[in-house]
Amino acid sequence: MNVPEMFGSMVFNDYVMREMLPKKVYQSLQNTIVEGKALDEDVADIVAAAMKEWAIGKGATHFTHWFQPMTGITAEKHDSFLTVDKNGCVIMDFSGKELTKGEPDASSFPSGGLRATFEARGYTAWDPTSYAFIKDDTLCIPTAFCSYTGQILDKKTPLLRSMDAISKEAVRALSLFGKHVRRVNATIGAEQEYFLIDKNDYSKRLDLRLTGRTLIGAPAAKGQEMEDHYFGSIRPRVKAFMADLDEELWKLGITSKTEHNEVAPCQHEMAPIFDNANKATDANQLTMEMMRKIAEKHGFACLLHEKPFEGINGSGKHNNWALSTDEGENLLDPGKTPKDNAQFLLFLTAVIKAVDEYQDLLRISVASAGNDHRLGANEAPPAIVSIFVGDELGAVIDSIIDGTPFRGRTSSSRLDIGTSVLPKLARDNSDRNRTSPFAFTGNKFEFRMPGSSFNIACTNVMLNTAVADALKDFCDELEGADDFNASLNALIKRELEKHRRILFNGNGYSKEWEKEAERRGLSNYKRTPDALVHYCDVKNTELFRRHKVYTEEEMESRLEISLDEYQKAIHIEAVTMIEMLRRQILPASLRFSSTLASSVQVKESIGVAAVSDKALCAKVSALCDSLLLKADALEECVAASPEEARDAAFHAADRIIPLMEEARKLSDCLETVVDKSFWPVPTYSEILFYV
Ligand code: ADP
Ligand code: MG
Repeated sequence: MNVPEMFGSMVFNDYVMREMLPKKVYQSLQNTIVEGKALDEDVADIVAAAMKEWAIGKGATHFTHWFQPMTGITAEKHDSFLTVDKNGCVIMDFSGKELTKGEPDASSFPSGGLRATFEARGYTAWDPTSYAFIKDDTLCIPTAFCSYTGQILDKKTPLLRSMDAISKEAVRALSLFGKHVRRVNATIGAEQEYFLIDKNDYSKRLDLRLTGRTLIGAPAAKGQEMEDHYFGSIRPRVKAFMADLDEELWKLGITSKTEHNEVAPCQHEMAPIFDNANKATDANQLTMEMMRKIAEKHGFACLLHEKPFEGINGSGKHNNWALSTDEGENLLDPGKTPKDNAQFLLFLTAVIKAVDEYQDLLRISVASAGNDHRLGANEAPPAIVSIFVGDELGAVIDSIIDGTPFRGRTSSSRLDIGTSVLPKLARDNSDRNRTSPFAFTGNKFEFRMPGSSFNIACTNVMLNTAVADALKDFCDELEGADDFNASLNALIKRELEKHRRILFNGNGYSKEWEKEAERRGLSNYKRTPDALVHYCDVKNTELFRRHKVYTEEEMESRLEISLDEYQKAIHIEAVTMIEMLRRQILPASLRFSSTLASSVQVKESIGVAAVSDKALCAKVSALCDSLLLKADALEECVAASPEEARDAAFHAADRIIPLMEEARKLSDCLETVVDKSFWPVPTYSEILFYV
């Protein structure tokens, strides 16, 4: 296999553009890509023609505008290149207009009421900063999706806006240090966790098929306590899947780099090489799609749900985030000279301020019914947002705030920002705090709260905009300073002191931290609706308005959609559970108990005591009685859901979920006593320890 040759072979990338486009056209497209300048119409025609030629050469027959509606998944509507010309001949055609603008019938995508009040239709617009690619013989054109009145209806557009916002402020900040760059990009590496289970088991479980997770299931005799799966040797069947996945991703220009087993049985991870935020987001969406598809081919089902199995580690998506200039300088790299160190400290301080001031937005960006099973449970980051900087950088920060000498490994000195050199920070993996939701890992931050099924756009919109805002405040202050170094020193000291409460190096899973965080005034929104209701708080709508990322109206629509999505997810789970209990679990258990009852009768008729038959029969019957009542109560509770999205969300969290948990307990109890041959669905041990 020739990887370099295969890599990106299905992508209309820079190399192809350079080969196929006239120099002037290429240059003008570059200006659009690098500086976000609008694209000329005649340029679009030429690019479209080249794209079509290239795509047809690769076997494509169709094209589609590929976009990311607010459901978080990707959407596409295929059109063929086929056209009939004036003479009735069939030709393959693709115009600049078709490339740059599309009109999908978008009426059934969620809009949170935005479209209803304005024009019913929406349109898609080409995002030339993300390369077009071929998938399933279709040329896919990454696009943004808006309404005709300009309100955004997707996840991509706000991401692009937030990238512009942070670029603008970071460019300003760099010029304070005498560096003049054209653009600063947020860079993302999204590590993707997932489960692979046998397709046969998957097909037999209504809960997995309809909700992505098991709603019932007693723990297997063996779980993950032996820790023998993490980085363990990979099953040959899984290895074959990974090889296939790599190949398909590479063709799409996705830099799949690392693949390994994760903590839980059947759990795995894929990490790509980082890229600019918008490209990384597209790549992650494609990665999830490819994982599902390729799993099918190998007789697997790929589970991207945050918590497919209770009592077993859930899946997240670590969002590694940094800032990079168009010249490739990583602004979160501490650097080696006093000046670079000072610049690093300014950016670091901006991130600390941003995460503290907008901790609620970060929490909201990862809120979903699925992720509620992870956050705050004892295996994933807590629902409290805090930053881990490690002992060494922590000591640097302490010494800046307290004005005391820094005691490093080799020397002890005062840290004067701008004149002294920072101690070399160790970039040691073992030093990392796995319990922290937001960890500095040497030259980037790793945000560990996003769920495995999430579109990472939302998280990065929040992060980019919040950091842009902090940088804006800093620049406003420092641009007018008489003595730059003195002002910089004062600002960093003051801001670090002010936001010190968000720094936490200890164990994020501990009960003490919850108390301590409360004392520090950090928010701790345990459930999705508790977090979501803060989305449109004035400080948040003001933030996004200031940086032209969202209008207040767009935010209100997004809130509505998120509440509704949550409420619907729980609703579907509850209804699925009722069906499984009534039509599978109860009938099977009752059949078993009636077998026992018959056995009691037969044995007693010949004068044999049937003590265990009787006892077991009574136990199963009693559990069934309680379970039937619970299923009825759950049904009533679901039927009593209020209309309004916010009320319905709280009804789901406060009432439906607790009832589901109670029903599950009863069902799981039955599972441990009912004859295996009667049990109607594959159990945890069967699913997790497949051969
Ligand atoms: P690990 O966290 O497993 O030790 P790495 O630190 O090498 O692994 O990288 C984890 C992820 O972070 C990878 O996807 C990598 O590409 C990404 N990453 C590395 N540097 C950056 C950066 N400057 N910006 C964004 N992501 C980055
Ligand atoms: Mg990592």
